[in-house]
Parts: sequence; C-alpha cells; structure tokens
Amino acid sequence: MSSTVITNIATLVTNDPSLGSPLGLIRDAAVVVDGDRIAWTGASSKAPATDNRVDAGGRSVLPGFVDSHSHLVFAGDRTEEFNARMSGRGYTAGGIRTTVAATRAASDEELEAGLTRYLSEALSQGTTTMETKSGYGLTVADEERALRLAARHTDEVTYLGAHIVSPDLADDPAAYVALVTGEMLDACAPHARWIDVFCEKGAFDGDQARAILTAGRAKGLHPRIHANQLSYGPGVQLAVELDAASADHCTHLTDADVDALAGGATVATLLPGAEFSTRATWPDARRLLDAGVTVALSTDCNPGSSFTSSVPFCIALAVRDMGMTPDEAVWSATAGGAAALRRTDVGRVTPGAYADLTLLDAPSHVHLAYRPGVPLVSGVWRRGVRVV
Ligand SMILES: [Zn+2]
Repeated sequence: MSSTVITNIATLVTNDPSLGSPLGLIRDAAVVVDGDRIAWTGASSKAPATDNRVDAGGRSVLPGFVDSHSHLVFAGDRTEEFNARMSGRGYTAGGIRTTVAATRAASDEELEAGLTRYLSEALSQGTTTMETKSGYGLTVADEERALRLAARHTDEVTYLGAHIVSPDLADDPAAYVALVTGEMLDACAPHARWIDVFCEKGAFDGDQARAILTAGRAKGLHPRIHANQLSYGPGVQLAVELDAASADHCTHLTDADVDALAGGATVATLLPGAEFSTRATWPDARRLLDAGVTVALSTDCNPGSSFTSSVPFCIALAVRDMGMTPDEAVWSATAGGAAALRRTDVGRVTPGAYADLTLLDAPSHVHLAYRPGVPLVSGVWRRGVRVV
C-alpha cells in the first residue's frame, strides 16, 4: 500500500461537523490517502510526508457522491414515452410495463453491459457509491437475475419485486404479493441488502407494502420505500414505523408526514430528476430541512421517469427549485446519501473513511449549482485509486 497527499485544495468538503459547519470546510487544505482509506486532513502547509503527491492546483475536493436510489438493471428505451409526455400527456406508473417486457427479453450480457455503462457514466460524474434495484423482471427468475448481476458491481443492492404488480398477475394482486413475499423473496434475498416497495395508487397500498417489507425484514433485508411520489399516501409514515433507512421521493407530504420524518431515523431521499422529467411539482426540501429532517439527494436513474445519472444536475435542480442552499444540496448528495444507506464509511472525508474523492475544476463546491450542466468533475478517486 502506498500513501498519497493531495495538496493545494482551495476548498475541501469533509462533512465533519466538528470543524464548525455541517460541510466541515477546510480552506487551503490537503488530504492524505493511505491504501483505500483517508488517513489525514488539514491545512496544506501541515501535510505529512507521503509516497506520492498530487497538486490540486487551487481546485476543490469533496467526498464522492453517494447515489442511494437508482434502477440500472433494465433493457429497452422509452424515448417515445418521454417525448409524448413532454408534448402534453401525463405520467402514470404503467409505463414500467414497457421496460419489464424489454428486460425479460434481454440476455444477461445485454443487461450487464447496460448496468456497467450507467455505473461508469455516474462514476465519471463523481458518484463513487451507487445503490441499484431490481424491479423490471417481476418473475422469480428475472428478479433473481437482476439482483445477481447488480451484486457483481455494487454492494448496495435492493430487491424491488414490488415495483408494480406483474402484468402476468394483473387480475390477482394478492397472488403477486404472495409471490413477492414467498418464492421470489427466497430467491432474491441472498443477493440483496435492502427491500423496497412502490407504495402508490396503481402499485401497492399501505397494507400490501407493510406485508412485503415485513416479510423482507424476516429474511434479513432492511426496508426502504418509494413513498408519496405521485400522491399523498401511507408510505412515509409506514417507512418511519418500520425504521426504513429511507423514504424516497416525498413529493406529497402532510404535516403529519413531515413530523414523523423529523421524529424518526428515516432519511427523506429527494429525487428531483423525476419531477424534472415528468414536469411534476418539486418536493419541498426547505420544509423538510426546516423541520429537522435528514435529507438525501439522488438521481433515481431509470429509463422511464428520470434518465439521468448526474448527481451534479440534481444538486443544481435542488438549489434552483427546491429551496436548498448549495451547502445543503452538496451535503445531501454525499453525507445524506450515506445516511440513507446507513453508511458511515462513505460520504465524508475523515480519517478511516474510504478514500472516495471528487476533484472539481472549480475553486468551490458551490460551483456545482452555480455552473449547472458544466462538466466540472475533473478527477475521481474510488477506494484510494484514481479512476477518472
Ligand atoms: Zn425509484
């Protein structure tokens, strides 16, 4: 193992609140990487001797982004659906069926090629930890396959057999819930860390979601929920009740939903790419933050409702349209994402954490929102290895 110091960092985001702000900013900073871990942070002038030295040239460094919500195991294309929607037609959950048919028809090689393409696309934009889900197979074999392929490339894998009721059992949702909580769960649990359910009108109601998440928990999976995306509903309160790591979307919230999130350990994960791509109402991040809720920011990368792998794009949307400050949005896309995955070893630049770093070609992290759409990520280290 060799050690490397990155010096001459104009602004370093550590997410260490003991340094005086939530982002734990250090000006004129240095970071020492030893093997796959962060060994030291501090003033550039006080950096210890190391084997290698990288000059950041007055640019900024922040933790690699933690994207805690994506759907990357799929085949097919929904350009026409997007084009139609942008021409005036509304979005419903039924569009998922198009991707289910294409995914079932695809070979393992095709699915894995797509998955690795989107993961590397995200990595080049600074994402060093990425959760991804099944949910476009909806048979025992197709869900198991999706999770097996995903687990080859990330350890944050989520079983989402309960994405929609399978078209094969459209007339008998109870039979599909029995499959999701029975044979399908048995086949999928060995490949996954998490279980998720799309709790929404047209997908699964509160009672079905509770049964699915409870069954998953009994198999050692931890819950997270697609909650309150398209309408008000029971998802958020169920998430808090079941100690889900995250309630994702949170676009339609009552005051009681906000109070529940503020009083529990469940992170609210906001996915502005979905509202952008469906011309829907933005989630109110300001309301959540002012209530004391922990907020994460992720892409929801999927072919139907949010086909972006760019966390910087989501940061810009969150600042422009959801009431977040640039500091809050950067925190939510790093430490917030880590909290939504119940991780303390990523999303921060502190001794002992994984050396996952993003170098921006800008003097400050604020430029992520100040210069939207500009490819500022000029270097990425993952587990101590420079990969971009
Ligand atoms: Zn999703």
